[in-house]
Amino acid sequence: MKIHIDIDCFFVSASRIVEPSLEHKAVAIGGRSDTKIFNKDAKNQTVNFENSGSFVPTFYKAYEKKDDDIASFTDANGRIRGILTTSSYEARSFGIKTAMTIREALQLCPHLIIKAPNMSLYQKLSHELHEFLCTKIPLVEQASIDEFYGDLSGWVEDKDIPAFIDALRHEILHALKLPVSIGAAPTRYIAKLATTYAKPFGSKVIDKYNFDAFVNPIAVGNFAGIGKSMKQKLSAVQIHTLGDIRKRRGTLESWGPYAKDLYKRVNSEIDAPIKTTHRRKSIGISRTMDPLYDRVELKRRVHIIARHLVYAILKLDVIPTVFHLGIRYEMNQRSHKNISMAELFTEKKFDSLCLRLFNEADSQKRLKVINLSINCSSFTRDSKKELSLIGFEDEKKMRELTEQTQVLRERYGIDTLKWGSEM
Ligand SMILES: [Mg+2]
Repeated sequence: MKIHIDIDCFFVSASRIVEPSLEHKAVAIGGRSDTKIFNKDAKNQTVNFENSGSFVPTFYKAYEKKDDDIASFTDANGRIRGILTTSSYEARSFGIKTAMTIREALQLCPHLIIKAPNMSLYQKLSHELHEFLCTKIPLVEQASIDEFYGDLSGWVEDKDIPAFIDALRHEILHALKLPVSIGAAPTRYIAKLATTYAKPFGSKVIDKYNFDAFVNPIAVGNFAGIGKSMKQKLSAVQIHTLGDIRKRRGTLESWGPYAKDLYKRVNSEIDAPIKTTHRRKSIGISRTMDPLYDRVELKRRVHIIARHLVYAILKLDVIPTVFHLGIRYEMNQRSHKNISMAELFTEKKFDSLCLRLFNEADSQKRLKVINLSINCSSFTRDSKKELSLIGFEDEKKMRELTEQTQVLRERYGIDTLKWGSEM
């Protein structure tokens, strides 16, 4: 059997570890743009990289934030800004939902406690849970920051699975103070579905005896992989529940490969193996900011993003060969520039490259910028592309310098060495 483990309202649960007084209270985590890396006096910070699905960086120290109260969501004009990313079950009973604005949420629940996100803490806890699970189950796959799959086949006998997963969630709570819910089923898709119905802090096993009774009444929208448009398409032909899907094989097959596959996932006819290793395919940083016109300041921010990316790229020990810089302007305008370059990776070269990409991408010079993103991909370790040998010896020296810089930054923080152009 496969199991799916999901941390209950993860960000709230994480803040309760740091602040136990939040237990049993209506708590929510507010999201807002994180532009702190651009502060000129930035010191000892950790930075969160765009998470491309399953990868969780493990090299950031958790740190305490002091600005985690409602004041940090209030702008200079006294307006409360930001949206909610997570809420506790106590808050949900007041109608609080994910993606609600903080202002709306406070109208529904005036005593709601709102905390700022602490990505470094989440990454640390996620990593700890991953490590813990690996000691308990032979095959563990991390699916997102708070979700894991495991394969119990040949490890725990089917009849012992209910007791095993029940014990597991109590062990996790005891060891890491994280409440999780666990679903078990013959396939990962049904296990994930079972977890949804086990929440909060519960476990649920779906086997051949209760499969029909469990799956059939569930609304199609609750199955992972059925989005808004698929839901509409199904609804148009009177398919509203998973049981309806199971009765309409022909209809789904006639819609092409995705729907055909969906039918099989719902019907537990196919499964995907548990993948224990993940190779990251790209790494990037994106920052949303208050609309900014000043190009000098924007370029300074490009340098800063570049410096943080260099740190991560060296940590990952990869050589990216495709670089992407994206700009989002006010009035919904966008622009981007890509470049491929298969050369030795050095900080100096990467920094100049990012600046060049920015200059080329910045096609709407009269508009204010609201988001900057840089993404690096096609790592040579994966693609086995040969690096260009032109100027290789000179570059090796630059590479050594880059590596020495990294040693210092690992010891003293990413802000230890900055570029003159950032100051
Ligand atoms: Mg969760």
